[in-house]
Amino acid sequence: MTGTQQQAPAFPRPTPDPDSAPWWDALREHRLLFQRCRRCGHAQLYFRAVCRECWSRDLETPESSGRGVVYSYSVLYSVGDPVLKEELPYALAIVELDEGARLLTRIVGDPDAVAVGRRVRVVFHDVDEELTLPYFALEEDDA
Ligand code: ZN
Repeated sequence: MTGTQQQAPAFPRPTPDPDSAPWWDALREHRLLFQRCRRCGHAQLYFRAVCRECWSRDLETPESSGRGVVYSYSVLYSVGDPVLKEELPYALAIVELDEGARLLTRIVGDPDAVAVGRRVRVVFHDVDEELTLPYFALEEDDA
C-alpha cells in the first residue's frame, strides 16, 4: 500500500487493554457485561482493575439484562470524525443499566424522541468482525 492511496476513513476504534478485553470479547458475542464488586456491591462500567468505590480488586463480571434508562443525553449535530459525521444527527446518551452501571452510548432511531428517563434496551452494532458496540434503542411501549 502506498501513502498516496485514498483510503476510506476508518470507524474510530477503542483500544482494548487487559482490563477491558473481556468486555469487548463479550460484545462480539452480543453479550453486555458489567462489573460488580463482591465486597461493596458497586456496579460499574467500564472495566477496570479495581472497584471505583472501595478499591477492591474482587470484581465479578455478570451479564446485564441489556435494559436500562436514559440518564442524560445530548443530540449531536456536528462531530469532528469524518465517519461519524455521516450518521448525524444522533443522540449520545449516558444509559444507566437496571443493574446500576452507567455507560456512554448512542441511542438509535429518532433523536427527537429521546428523553431522560425513557426505557431503553441494548442493540448490538457490529462495526466489523472485530468490533461490536453496544447501542441502545427506546422501548416501544414507553412513549
Ligand atoms: Zn467495591
